[in-house]
Amino acid sequence: MALFVTKFGGSSVASVEKMRNVCERIVEMKDQGNDVVVVVSAMGDTTDDLLKLAGSVGENLKYRELDMLISTGEQQSAALIALSLIAMGCPALSLTGWQAGIKTDGQHSKARIRDIEPARILQEIDTGKVVVIAGFQGLSPEGDITTLGRGGSDTTAVALAAKLKADRCMIFTDVDGVFTADPRIVKDARKLSSISYEEMLEMASLGAVVLQPRAAEFAMLYNVDVEVRNSFNNNPGTIITEVAKMEKQRIVSGVAHDLNVARIALFDVPDQPGVASIIFKTLADKGINVDMVIQSAMRDNRNDIAFTIESNEFNRARPVVNEIVMKIGASGMSYKTDVAKVSIVGAGMQSNPGVAANMFDALAHKDINIHMISTSEIKISCIIDEGEIETAVQALHEKFGLDKVD
Ligand code: ASP
Ligand code: MG
Repeated sequence: MALFVTKFGGSSVASVEKMRNVCERIVEMKDQGNDVVVVVSAMGDTTDDLLKLAGSVGENLKYRELDMLISTGEQQSAALIALSLIAMGCPALSLTGWQAGIKTDGQHSKARIRDIEPARILQEIDTGKVVVIAGFQGLSPEGDITTLGRGGSDTTAVALAAKLKADRCMIFTDVDGVFTADPRIVKDARKLSSISYEEMLEMASLGAVVLQPRAAEFAMLYNVDVEVRNSFNNNPGTIITEVAKMEKQRIVSGVAHDLNVARIALFDVPDQPGVASIIFKTLADKGINVDMVIQSAMRDNRNDIAFTIESNEFNRARPVVNEIVMKIGASGMSYKTDVAKVSIVGAGMQSNPGVAANMFDALAHKDINIHMISTSEIKISCIIDEGEIETAVQALHEKFGLDKVD
């Protein structure tokens, strides 16, 4: 008998009718003789609605209390799925994250799973029940409810699959799998039959929203094969796996883009040890995430330093940056919030020279100006004007022949 861990996202459980569709799939797996653990997200936009509701109370709300509030979304879906399964004659039981033994650290709103005590889950599986678990939540060392960051139910599912040594981990969503680019932008974007952990991690961090980046990280760490597939059809999905298990290595597997980017530059930063540390420590202390950093060549013992942050954090970052300018004696700052990041990702890049040159060539051909560049072994990212992002994604997709990939 095989054990399946399945996860159904918010759009798959958005209504009672959609839940019925989900339950039919679960019953089918069960009827085929498998044990099934189900992880669910909150229904549709419930999490956003709850956050909006909290926002109407005021600003600077306590994350502990917010976690208490938004974790209720997943509890609703877990209970409704269990009720619906039982109504269909399939024994089922819902559990909150803490009932399921999910232990996290104490970082409210972005907690990390530390361990899972699976005794209760195993005991319920043993009695033949489908166990339905509220995703996205756990319990802190203090005994408080935590949440795992937006999209965190994916991580709940992958962590459970690892702990329970599941035979399969399936993430059901509203698209067929991982695509070579966002199909809303590139009409001939292709679904990948497989993608490596490293590539998925980059794609997910770079704005491809099919999987929470931390879920890809977990899958890689514990070597869990994850299948991302559509809950509304029976099309085969994308398998996220070890590079060694993939049939073909591609030089470039996908083009990702992210509009949530703002660029900040500091001028005439004194060229002294410790200055970068002051800049980035001050930002980190305020919880502002920095992505790319570029320091230009020194002149007159002064450097310009540019970096990117998430544009939705810009209003919070701006006073902090002004404070930094004063503190380090820079001559000033500039910013641009209407920029975006376009990236190409591919495990085969590391052994193929000229990929970066091809990327810059494709952008140049479309007259697209590059503001910043950063690279890793399997990724190249460029910051460009937001208005040019669609043209850039399409041009890169074509340049690397991604319309022919499988
Ligand atoms: N409901 C949470 C969110 O909207 C978690 C999830 O869907 O995975 O981010
Ligand atoms: Mg989600």
